[in-house]
Amino acid sequence: MKFGGTSVGTPQRMKEVSELITPAAGEQNFVVLSAMSGTTNSLVEISDYLYKKNPEGANTIINKLEHKYMQHVEALYSTDEYKQKTRDFLRDEFNYLRSFTKIMFTSFEEKVILAQGEIISTNMVTNYLQECGKKAVLLNALDIVRTDKNAEPDFNYIREKTEEQLKRNPDYDIYLTQGFICRNAYGEIDNLLRGGSDYTACLIGAALHSDEIQIWTDIDGMHNNDPRIVEHTEPVRQLYFEEAAELAYFGAKILHPTCIQPAKFAGVPVRLLNTMDPSAPGTIINNEMQHGTIKAVAAKDNIVCIQIQSSRMLLAHGFLRKVFEIFEIYKTSIDMVCTSEVGVSLTIDNTSHLADIINELKKYGTVMVEENMCIICVVGDLNSSNIGFEAKACLAMEQIPVRMISYGGSNYNISFLVESDYKKQTLQALQQSLFHN
Ligand code: ADP
Ligand code: ASP
Ligand code: MG
Repeated sequence: MKFGGTSVGTPQRMKEVSELITPAAGEQNFVVLSAMSGTTNSLVEISDYLYKKNPEGANTIINKLEHKYMQHVEALYSTDEYKQKTRDFLRDEFNYLRSFTKIMFTSFEEKVILAQGEIISTNMVTNYLQECGKKAVLLNALDIVRTDKNAEPDFNYIREKTEEQLKRNPDYDIYLTQGFICRNAYGEIDNLLRGGSDYTACLIGAALHSDEIQIWTDIDGMHNNDPRIVEHTEPVRQLYFEEAAELAYFGAKILHPTCIQPAKFAGVPVRLLNTMDPSAPGTIINNEMQHGTIKAVAAKDNIVCIQIQSSRMLLAHGFLRKVFEIFEIYKTSIDMVCTSEVGVSLTIDNTSHLADIINELKKYGTVMVEENMCIICVVGDLNSSNIGFEAKACLAMEQIPVRMISYGGSNYNISFLVESDYKKQTLQALQQSLFHN
């Protein structure tokens, strides 16, 4: 069971979560918590001040945050013993944060700072559960979750360590750990990127072969479009693993981009549930494919489109390999590809090596770059035998300047590349054409 930032965002919510995670007799729950909502953003801001060598700026935010947390203590616990215990813990935590204002600041220190939000929330909830007399224990995610040299989760290590920790701590009803945070291949504190608590939950749920992985958040499941942008979106009750993976990867914020993979490999269903309305059905993600339906639309921002044109070389064998090799050397993954006789267009979202990549590509053709693009992805049964759905999606694009279209890479999606300025209009048009007609 994973609870996101809003789900543990106030003392009242923490109390409600404590009820939800209490298992039925004879069962055990493994619980992954995010930082309280807003905390990771504050920690990012603290780090930003420290990078800019402005310790006062950092201290102002640290003091504000400490004040807020100390008030939470009063609201959450009823006994002096637990109030004092948690106050002492928080005082140490905030003094630790202050200690970073006096040392050299690098990305290593930043990751240590970013880890404190989850460390604080899990300690607070564990203390509350213990105050309520529940058999709960906090396991340190830094002893369980590790990434490898490619910054990918090391699944075998995670499985071994999770099992080892459970054996070492038998007879608890509730096991808690921090989402998001981990160690990297060098043993340093690191994280699974923003929104990473979903990933922690799916990794641990898969490692334990749980009956189910539950992602508890502030909305009743995966909606058929981005509810922050489009009105009248509706929850989708069921998704096939591949469909959910495409939606997450292509921008549905409710799930971390790659969190579905471990669940899919282990065959453990994932259920998306609403902490604010626990009895609502939510969304189940499993191995069943519903035929003949389009499920949802998602959008991924900050995409860069690169076009390489070469009348000389494109048809020569080996040209595409040379082009792709450049992206491999710079560890930059490609999302969309379209080819023609005289050119190839592709998209990336990681621009950290863009200048080097362009430089290398110029050896093979004329290179054009367009920034501020957005991938709009339509997900569902888009198998070629299922006729008419591509046409329906394309019809929605009647008024939109479409830069690229990708279809046929999988049976589950059709993607359009548009300028970010057209994102809202595109999502609305697709909603109308796919779900309201
Ligand atoms: P948490 O803090 O629980 O991890 P997130 O903010 O990361 O929660 O994810 C939940 C939010 O994702 C929702 O409040 C909603 O605004 C947003 N969202 C974006 N796209 C979708 C979608 N297709 N379905 C549901 N929620 C979505
Ligand atoms: N607290 C982290 C974030 O805000 C991880 C998470 O909430 O999943 O990104
Ligand atoms: Mg999230």
